[in-house]
Amino acid sequence: MFGKFLLTVAVIAIIWFGYKYLGHLAELKRRDSSPRPSERPGREPRDAKVDAEAMVECRVCGTWQPSRTARSCGKADCPY
Ligand SMILES: [Zn+2]
Repeated sequence: MFGKFLLTVAVIAIIWFGYKYLGHLAELKRRDSSPRPSERPGREPRDAKVDAEAMVECRVCGTWQPSRTARSCGKADCPY
């Protein structure tokens, strides 16, 4: 009876620690894949900061827009 109880506790503990370990691994992986330009200058950034860095200036109207969502400002020779 007591041995079975101990076994159950051991199994729960193993599952618990395994779960925590997997979570730890997942967090490491997430941290590794999320770019930090100061720490990983060679990596291609993928988060929202990219849009802020990839700003393009309109030659005609002189406004700055994120290159992905750049729209025409309405002027005839606006490149967007
Ligand atoms: Zn423009």
